[in-house]
This record gives sequence, C-alpha cells and structure tokens, in this order.
Amino acid sequence: MYLKNIEVQGFKSFAQKINFEFHNGITGIVGPNGSGKSNVGDAVRWVLGEQSAKQLRGGNMQDVIFSGTETRKPLSFASVAITLDNQDHQLPVEFNEVTVTRRLYRSGESEYLINGSPCRLRDINEMFYDTGIGKEGYSIIGQGQIDRILSGKPEERRELFDEAAGIVKYKRRKNAAVKKLEEEQANLVRVTDILSELTRQLGPLERQSRTARIYMAKREELRTLDVNLFLLENEHNTMLLTELSEKLENAKHDLSENQEAYEKTKEEFERLEKELAELNQRTDFLREQAQNDAMKRQQLTGQADVLRE
Ligand code: ATP
Repeated sequence: MYLKNIEVQGFKSFAQKINFEFHNGITGIVGPNGSGKSNVGDAVRWVLGEQSAKQLRGGNMQDVIFSGTETRKPLSFASVAITLDNQDHQLPVEFNEVTVTRRLYRSGESEYLINGSPCRLRDINEMFYDTGIGKEGYSIIGQGQIDRILSGKPEERRELFDEAAGIVKYKRRKNAAVKKLEEEQANLVRVTDILSELTRQLGPLERQSRTARIYMAKREELRTLDVNLFLLENEHNTMLLTELSEKLENAKHDLSENQEAYEKTKEEFERLEKELAELNQRTDFLREQAQNDAMKRQQLTGQADVLRE
C-alpha cells in the first residue's frame, strides 16, 4: 500500500485544485518558508478525520478553508482527497485503490466519502486501524512532534508503538468488549434487581392467579348455566307458542262458526221482525175493521129499535 495522490482544493493556502502525484518511493517537497509544505501534511491529517483545529495549526475548523489573499477572494469550502494503492489489500476493503475524501463548507456542513460513497468518520478510522496511517498514526509526524513524542507521557508513546505493532485493532476490540461486558454486568445487576422484585411479588401474584383461575372457572360455569337456562326457556316458550297457536286456530275456527250462526240468526231475526210488522199491520187493520163493524151494528140496532117502535 502506498500514497498515490493527494487532491487539494480550497484547503489552507491551496485555493486552486492541485494534484500531488506520488510514486512507490520517497518524495520530498521543497519550497521557501511559508510556501505551504506543512499544509500538505495537514491536508492528509485532516482528510483522515483530524478534529482538533490546534493540531492543524488553526483556531477553529473553518480556518482550513482558503481565506483569500490580496488578489484572490476567500472560498466557501475546502476539499481534500487522498488516493492509496491497495493492491496488497492492507486496507480491509475489496478495492485495489481507495480514495478518501473530506469536504467542509463555511456553513459548517461537512462530509466524508470512501471511493465517492458518503460514509461516517468511524468507517474511515476503522479502515485505517493498525496501518499507521490513521490521524493518530506514526506515519504523519508534524514539525516539533518528534520532540513532543520523546518528552511526552509514556502512555502517548505506547500508543505509537501499539499502532506500529498492529495491535490497536485488537486493543479497540478488547475495549469495546470490556465496555460491552460492563454494560452486560450492569444489565445483569438490573435483571437481578428485577428478579428479586418479581420474586417478592410472586406470593401475592400466585394468590391473585388462584383467585383469577377460580373466577374464570365460575364464569365458565355461569356461562354454561346461562346457556342451559336460555335453552330451557326457549323450549318452554316454543311449547307455549305451539299451544297458543293451536288455541288461536281453534278460536278462529269457533269465531268463523259463530259468525256464520250470527249471520243466520240475524237473517232470521230480520225475517221475523218483518213478519211481526206485517202481523201488526194486519192486526191494526182487523181492529179498525172490527170497530167499524161494531159501529155499524150499533147503528143497525138503533134503526131496528126505531122501526119496532
Ligand atoms: P515552513 O517552511 O516555514 O514550515 P511551510 O512551507 O511549511 O513553511 P506552511 O506552514 O505549510 O508553510 O504554510 C503556511 C502558509 O499557509 C501561510 O502563508 C499561510 O498564510 C497560509 N495559510 C494557512 N491557512 C490558510 C488559509 N486558510 N487561507 C489561505 N492561506 C492560508
């Protein structure tokens, strides 16, 4: 694996897009003071995820964006892309060439890409574990850094040796595993707490469960009794209904017979009434005739008496 290319645009003193091409050997960058030699190293450190503006010799992260000169306006973003030859697959990815890109805008937005695909900083860090290339690696030694390393704390020096020995990956995994173990232990304590609380609740819950079971059995029994009662009532009502239907039929039959008899009686009554009226009329006529006959008889008797005298 070796560094093939650095493409810088808008980063520190590099306003224009510049490509630094490297070959599998040693490359030296020479130039007058302040011409931007260290900015090349800063570009590599930055693209690998450097988060400290101080390490990049600035006050804040926006300081890495080209801030303009007398003849050139400031730019709105900085972009750095490094391309590594990965034919030996030292980087744990399938690509033969890996390009890591970082962009930062003045608005504060930033992005990381691996071979053009957006990714997280964590993905980049993980890809470079134990290669010595990460931002903490020994492959980027800035000005005055050797002194700092030699006079620094033993733990800081240890980090460099770990990286060189290729055990950072395992150390990180171990740390992650230890952290997970601690979390699991905390979980275990929590679970034990919950378990003892649940055990405490077990007695009352068992009693409640027994009561609930009895309640459910009784409810089932009640349901069966309800159904039986309903069936019995239904049967009884069906019988009643049949009886009442029969009675209704009989009553209907009687009614129609009585109706018929009534009609006949009514007809007979009307006929007799008519006959009675005729008889009354006849009686009146005969009575009148009898009266007339009686009067005539009286007259005749009177005339006969006169004649006799
Ligand atoms: P020396 O040999 O003295 O170490 P050098 O060649 O390493 O110098 P650098 O320190 O890389 O030079 O570059 C410093 C230059 O970069 C300065 O001229 C500074 O003005 C310029 N510079 C840094 N940040 C920016 C920025 N954001 N915008 C424009 N120019 C910048």
